[in-house]
Amino acid sequence: MKRMAVLGSTGSIGTQALDVARAHRDLLSVEVIAAHSNDRLLERQIDEFRPSVAVLSDDDAYARLKSRRQFRTTELIGGRQALIDAGTLDSIDIVLTSMSGFAGLEPTIAAIDAGKDIALANKETLVAAGEIVMRRAKERGVKILPVDSEHGAFFQCLNGEDRRAIKKLLLTASGGPFRGCDRSQLENVTVDQVLAHPTWNMGRKITVDSATLVNKGLEVIEAKHLYGVEYDQIQVVVHPQSIVHSMVEFVDGSVIAQLASTDMRLPIQYALTFPARIDSTVERLDFWSMRALTFEPPDLDTFRGLKLAYEVGKRGGTAPCVFNAANEIAVNAFLNGRIKFLDIYRVIETVLDRRAVIDRPALEEIISENNAARADAEHAIAVL
Ligand code: NDP
Ligand code: MG
Repeated sequence: MKRMAVLGSTGSIGTQALDVARAHRDLLSVEVIAAHSNDRLLERQIDEFRPSVAVLSDDDAYARLKSRRQFRTTELIGGRQALIDAGTLDSIDIVLTSMSGFAGLEPTIAAIDAGKDIALANKETLVAAGEIVMRRAKERGVKILPVDSEHGAFFQCLNGEDRRAIKKLLLTASGGPFRGCDRSQLENVTVDQVLAHPTWNMGRKITVDSATLVNKGLEVIEAKHLYGVEYDQIQVVVHPQSIVHSMVEFVDGSVIAQLASTDMRLPIQYALTFPARIDSTVERLDFWSMRALTFEPPDLDTFRGLKLAYEVGKRGGTAPCVFNAANEIAVNAFLNGRIKFLDIYRVIETVLDRRAVIDRPALEEIISENNAARADAEHAIAVL
């Protein structure tokens, strides 16, 4: 039995993780759930899973639920600090980080420091502070188990392999809803068009990131930290069918791929139950009805978010943190109708130009650069 904390239980990954827990009550127990503002859904989750602790990090949402309900077996706690502490309880074995954005960094580090294994969905944590997070995990002997489907694929392809035998990580990308479009076609795309992802159904922020290919850029940086390769060893391969979740090329020329249907519950489950492989309800691949699997290079000129991610990744220091922060603010502004789709790249570039990179930053410097970059992004949006 693994006792888990689900941080971000009300989101796309969080609710699918609870689907997995519901299907395997004999193996997974939900000890802690934490969300930000969705008090109605958290309330239903408390009633169903009866965790020992439930957290709402938004003070207003906490006050709403607290005044509405009392729970007999669950302690309800509110506020940002409660979220940071949520993954550190003695009773927890593994923490799923399924909250979105930079807000996931401090709770993840606190859980690592408390010696908990991490099922990591919150890629922004590794992008902003990959060196610190991986070093602390190593020092504490903590496993970082990837939930992101591509990194889960690498993890499976590399099972039992010597990392030194890696020639290349072949990171697959669906290409998003605008694959094949040129810049002029992207100028006036609407929020609804952006949110209509062809193969995956995800939270709003990551769905925008998939359309800009910034998500793939964040995943390149995530892969670099998880597997310790050089950036030149990570090659993005556009694969519109999203059946091959990623591949590893080895020094001898062999390529190992992981295939499955497009259902996040599979990589979530594997991260939570590793090293055990257990039954699942995920739809099986039917090779007789499968259409062609195709592969093509990404268009780095049109989707320059990916190119920028390689640049900030190679630059290192606080550059990836600034890239991520500017993107978070820009995506939010796009979703709120304040800027156009291609302005997302403009905001990121403006903020990257403005901020001097700090090499080998401490955690406090990463947190303050994140705040400064967000303020710069707001300013860049205001003067666009
Ligand atoms: P969602 O937007 O669906 O959910 C986000 C979750 O985070 C919600 O539970 C939300 O709480 C919580 N949250 C939002 N803001 C804050 C905050 N400031 N502090 C604490 N918690 C907060 O996101 P996804 O599930 O799509 O993505 C979650 C993470 O997983 C991201 O890092 C994403 O990149 C990664 N990921 C997602 C994939 C997917 O298929 N969705 C695939 C691979 C990776 P509330 O709703 O209560 O406000
Ligand atoms: Mg992914």
